[in-house]
Amino acid sequence: MKFETRAIHVGQLPDPTTGAVIVPVYQTSTFAQEGLGVHKGYEYSRTGNPTRSALEQVLASLEEGKFGLAFASGLAATAAVLTLFQAGDHIVVGDDLYGGSYRLFEKVFKKFGIEPTFVDFDDIHAFKDAIRPNTKLVWIETPTNPLLKLIDIKALAKITKKAGVLLAVDNTFASPYLQKPLLLGADIVVHSTTKYIAGHSDLIGGAVVLNDKAIFDQLKFYQNATGAIPGPWDVWLTIRGLRTLSVRMREHDANARYLAKFLDKHPAVKKVYYPGLPSHPQHALAKKQMAGFGGMISIELKGGLKAVERFVKVLKIFRLGESLGGVESLMTYPAKMSHGSVPREERLARGITDDFLRISVGIEDKEDLRADLAAALVAAGKF
Ligand SMILES: *Cc1c(COP(=O)(O)O)cnc(C)c1O
Repeated sequence: MKFETRAIHVGQLPDPTTGAVIVPVYQTSTFAQEGLGVHKGYEYSRTGNPTRSALEQVLASLEEGKFGLAFASGLAATAAVLTLFQAGDHIVVGDDLYGGSYRLFEKVFKKFGIEPTFVDFDDIHAFKDAIRPNTKLVWIETPTNPLLKLIDIKALAKITKKAGVLLAVDNTFASPYLQKPLLLGADIVVHSTTKYIAGHSDLIGGAVVLNDKAIFDQLKFYQNATGAIPGPWDVWLTIRGLRTLSVRMREHDANARYLAKFLDKHPAVKKVYYPGLPSHPQHALAKKQMAGFGGMISIELKGGLKAVERFVKVLKIFRLGESLGGVESLMTYPAKMSHGSVPREERLARGITDDFLRISVGIEDKEDLRADLAAALVAAGKF
């Protein structure tokens, strides 16, 4: 079956007791047992819940993996992967990544003795050079947040396989509709399902998908042992969202292509970051590795913070806020939001200037979105 069909049917057979076409919300903590040790496969909802099982199956299918595990958030899923390691282990991390993941590696797991080395994302050889005898994992995002850089997953997987190191890819920005890291040689895929997978900005969730049974067993044990599971209702909303992932992604992608071209030509815009533009340094890789370019665009305005302030004041459809991947368009100002805790010098060195904005392009009408940006850019351009 194709992706679109699997999104709607895998793990979602009619309910065996009632025939309900939609997976029910099994809002229950426990399950009645017929006798001592006799049950229908579910005992307690931390360990397993039928609604969660449905989500885990469909997510595994969409990522072309054997096993899926749902967590309470993207960061809970990331933390689960890190518990595969122990004090004295080393991990290599691409240096352009979600701020919360950076904080988790640097401020939480480091103190338990899992040492991260952050390497220059633009140089694939830097990953190879950073691998030591005690390295257990290479962690990347592609496209990255917020600079929308790409890395060749297949080429990196060759390096990690040769070194006997696991490769984990945070696939949140692309979604499985546009990119399938496991098929390119990655060992583990992580998602913040909060974003495109659930797609409606109404919940927080995460997931891990993989093929290796032994690693899955360890993660499943961890999921039950530490308990960072999503509740049945959030899981149900995630399933409801991901059934339309393909149609949403096509619209996000089409709208973003249209707006990126418009922004690229606009005199008030200094620079546009979008993998779909031929000027993007990894445009050729994006065409090869992804089935589209996605809905995320970053821009730099001309005129610094003042221009940004004028710009955001005029926006009517784009909501100013954190997050991404919902049906509604969002405008994020990383300097004061996602990267607010990064010292200014370091932020500038990473290319996140004072007039840098990240856009999550929604699936509203593209002309309405263009008109909204156009009006705000007139305001931004008044020096
Ligand atoms: C949002 C996000 C996360 C964290 O996910 P939460 O669901 O907020 O915990 C991780 N990685 C990326 C790329 C994200 O955008």
